[in-house]
Amino acid sequence: MEQTTNAARHEAGAAPEFTEPLHVGRPNLGDRDRFRQRIEGALDRQWLTDGPLVLEFEEALAQVAGTTYCVAMCNATAGIQVAARAGGLVAGDEVLVPGFTWVATAHALDWIGIVPVFCDVDEASGTIDPEHAERLVGPRTRGILGVHVFGHPCEIDRLAELAARHDLVVLYDAAHGIGCTYRGLPIGGFGAAEVFSFHANKYVNSFEGGAIVTNDAAVAHRARAMRNFGITPDRKVAFPGTNAKLTEGAAAMGLTSLESMMDFAAANRDNHGRYRAGLAGVPGISVRRQAADEVANHQYLIIEVDAPVAGIHRDRLHELLTWNNVLSRPYFHPACHQLLPYADRPERYAPLPLPRSEALADRVLALPTGTAVTPEDIDRVAGLIRRLVPNAS
Ligand SMILES: *Cc1c(COP(=O)(O)O)cnc(C)c1O
Repeated sequence: MEQTTNAARHEAGAAPEFTEPLHVGRPNLGDRDRFRQRIEGALDRQWLTDGPLVLEFEEALAQVAGTTYCVAMCNATAGIQVAARAGGLVAGDEVLVPGFTWVATAHALDWIGIVPVFCDVDEASGTIDPEHAERLVGPRTRGILGVHVFGHPCEIDRLAELAARHDLVVLYDAAHGIGCTYRGLPIGGFGAAEVFSFHANKYVNSFEGGAIVTNDAAVAHRARAMRNFGITPDRKVAFPGTNAKLTEGAAAMGLTSLESMMDFAAANRDNHGRYRAGLAGVPGISVRRQAADEVANHQYLIIEVDAPVAGIHRDRLHELLTWNNVLSRPYFHPACHQLLPYADRPERYAPLPLPRSEALADRVLALPTGTAVTPEDIDRVAGLIRRLVPNAS
């Protein structure tokens, strides 16, 4: 590690471009005074978990998602688990998941004994390829867990058709999806349920947190009980359950962050445009777009590095940027199915290889964006990339 850092320093020449680290995902905080007021309220009430702030957060989220129901969760990983159980999936079932995603998508299922079976993705959107998914449907396949990766919606209509043909439960990992649309409708209301994440460096944050959104009353009823030891509103233990409740403190942050979502959207959109302009014409470097004709949250700024054209591999660019205090992140590399627990057992998890997931994982690099990054920062990052890409004139 020390050696490569020194090599990077040597080849990059001068002092680092930035003296302070520039992060990919600094939290979007919102109005601190509003947050403090909410915390004071919780302390005054002495009601610290699963109380009025959680309820208010759930109502606000259901509005954004356009759904009838919302069940707040301690994080999205637990949210996917509870949604899977509430949707009727059980241990031993197989669920189709994309190879290109964050490891939590697969881990959430595997941890409760549901087998994630990896499908390839469409390279342009990064989302699960319905055609490949259909070819992998087998006797134990019971569901599909699509991921709206980087806020790009899955091919929801095609997945719904495929699910209808094979009687599958459709769930969505919408960890990146809040504030985005599919065919003009908000992400959140599709499939049996969708799951948002409010981890600290997601677009909307509640320190840690998540939510299940759905229009299905039965799924919502079971999910609400299952997150609280299986206890139903009439105080009966009606289902096996877990403890995955959201605290009032987290809901205070979530509400505050959500209130400023439109400001985050504007900042991210401006950042996106500025990066595109700054990197225009750099050979082998392209800025990924979210879906055309949809509302996008631009929560991630992803470039793709075409190594032969750029004259530099993504890994090397990542290393040089990091040395310059631009803390870029190779989201998501390795692809999920290439990670040890899954790659070691292809007979259980994956019909290897998944060439499009792997190619994408080899090219992507997330750059700093969000409300903490200034236009000047972006100009300097773009200028730095121009200097680091050998084939840029
Ligand atoms: C962040 C993330 C998760 C997990 O969310 P947590 O709230 O941290 O559990 C799941 N899937 C994807 C695609 C993510 O990016």
